Amino acid sequence: MPDLVDHLAELTGFRDRELLDVTLVGALRDLLQTQARSVAIYRSVGEPGQERWLTRALQRAGEMAATADPSWVDIDSLPRQADFPSRLEAFRRQAIVTVAGALHLTLFPVSTDRESLGVLEIESDGALDERDRRMVLSILRIYHNFQALLDYSERDTLTGLLNRKTFDESFMKVAAEPALPGSAPLLDGRRAVPVSSHCWLGVIDIDHFKQVNDRFGHLIGDEVLLLLSRLMRASFRFHDRLYRFGGEEFVVLMRCAGAEAAQQAFERLRRNVEQFAFPQVGRITVSIGFTGLRGGDTPSAAFERADRAVYHAKTHGRNQVAHHAELVARGELAEDAKIGDVELF
Ligand code: GH3
Ligand code: MG
Ligand code: MG
Repeated sequence: MPDLVDHLAELTGFRDRELLDVTLVGALRDLLQTQARSVAIYRSVGEPGQERWLTRALQRAGEMAATADPSWVDIDSLPRQADFPSRLEAFRRQAIVTVAGALHLTLFPVSTDRESLGVLEIESDGALDERDRRMVLSILRIYHNFQALLDYSERDTLTGLLNRKTFDESFMKVAAEPALPGSAPLLDGRRAVPVSSHCWLGVIDIDHFKQVNDRFGHLIGDEVLLLLSRLMRASFRFHDRLYRFGGEEFVVLMRCAGAEAAQQAFERLRRNVEQFAFPQVGRITVSIGFTGLRGGDTPSAAFERADRAVYHAKTHGRNQVAHHAELVARGELAEDAKIGDVELF
């Protein structure tokens, strides 16, 4: 019992979801009475019809700690869902699935109030006994409730996107992640390209949104915000971080190989919004500004660069994507925000 309490204390001590999964898997490995060969959490990622399994945490017998796929892993390198039919069954049916064989597999669905996340998979020599099954289910319930609490404090209630409060922390985390393989060759042990080559920050602002509210009312306005958040989810990759900063201002923290790829990703969103028929409202457009993260960047400095690019887009016709560094190179924006502000007056 003290073991269980210790593990629960550790489990609920983390606000970082990656650590949470790693801790869960480690705790279950310790607490199971049945000899487990491995305990793992797999998450379903990717677009509908193309889903893959991302390993959130995997600990095998004899291993001291769990391992995980990096959150920015190339999706094409992950195993296809269909290659693991029992996992898929547990995930789709949201039911416990057991497979008896040389090794026994017990698969538990893992979900939040909002969505099905993936599965917890236990590999063991014999079938999981009843006590273990109940213990796993109880711990998964605690895990589920804790995730709901985290969502409540970290997510925007209308859209389910991350809220502004969590931005600074994940900005530092994303900026500290290593460059994508192949995108940044090492020179003399140092990265040949600055951090800006793989992390990008975009600010998205709806054009003339006040008119939507004025003509159709706040409720319809809110629905537009919700639908826009869905278009964002569909336009970006699973590992990109999407925020609602408040009002009709959205932010994306994204990893991709270079300016061109970043421009394309933001263009895709701009186009998807332009082409979407919003119920009652019809067409709306967005203006997007983006910037590459630099070594030593602060969240507010990077945000301000992207925001100034949005302002440029707003004053040059709206419904467009503006890259801060390119505007500076063309002499259309001053590099220094203060000079830019002075120029406005
Ligand atoms: P621009 O193209 O220059 O961005 O024009 P705009 O009308 O979108 O810009 P502005 O920033 O002046 O207006 C933003 C409006 O967003 C003001 C407010 O009515 C609306 N708004 C802010 N937060 C919410 C919200 O949570 N729900 C709804 N429905 N509307 C909101
Ligand atoms: Mg605005
Ligand atoms: Mg606006």
